[in-house]
Amino acid sequence: MIDLPECVFCRNIVTGKEAHIFYRDDHVIGFMDKYPVERGHSLIIPVKHFENIFTIDMEYYTRVHHTAKYVSMALMDVFHADGINVGQNNGSCARQIVMHYHLHVIPRHCGKEISWDRLLVTDAELEKEASLIRKKLSTFMDKL
Ligand SMILES: [Zn+2]
Repeated sequence: MIDLPECVFCRNIVTGKEAHIFYRDDHVIGFMDKYPVERGHSLIIPVKHFENIFTIDMEYYTRVHHTAKYVSMALMDVFHADGINVGQNNGSCARQIVMHYHLHVIPRHCGKEISWDRLLVTDAELEKEASLIRKKLSTFMDKL
């Protein structure tokens, strides 16, 4: 059992202390990845700590993925994307780095090489992107 304060997502995201959050409800938080592989790279996590796909409660799992559908639609619009990668890693051998279940939602563009290298982005840029996604998501609010 992990000690919750040692989980960076529980400590910094769930508390709202240090994240560019664009969506939050009782079960799910959506926020900007601080180390994006593409502009608009978002993460969706359950509010409650679960380590991975094997342990996450089904209601939280379903809500995270439900949110991902609408976040994907918002990212297509806000970032003029041509496609979206949705994915997540389970276990250190699968390159899971933060041991709190999280789903990556990444806008992609035709003609641009798919890269997994991390970009350098400022907090101000992340906050601006979060506000654009928040605004677009608000048009789907009846579905979220
Ligand atoms: Zn956690």
